[in-house]
Amino acid sequence: MARRYAGKMNGERYLANTSWSKREVHDLDSETTNCQIDEIIRAGNEKPYTSHATAKADGFDNCAYCIGGSTR
Ligand SMILES: [Zn+2]
Repeated sequence: MARRYAGKMNGERYLANTSWSKREVHDLDSETTNCQIDEIIRAGNEKPYTSHATAKADGFDNCAYCIGGSTR
């Protein structure tokens, strides 16, 4: 439940799952167990973002657990 320094992550707040079937961005400061962040990194599908807006601009959907639907 913290920011990661593994895989491609270097302490950034946001992590996008580049898996073609997921395409979601997670907020590591609000991470839940449902996010399965470590599994994403283990699969090599993590992409770091410092800005939520940038991840959204790249086409990632909000994770329903840590960010939610249309609130941000
Ligand atoms: Zn999440």
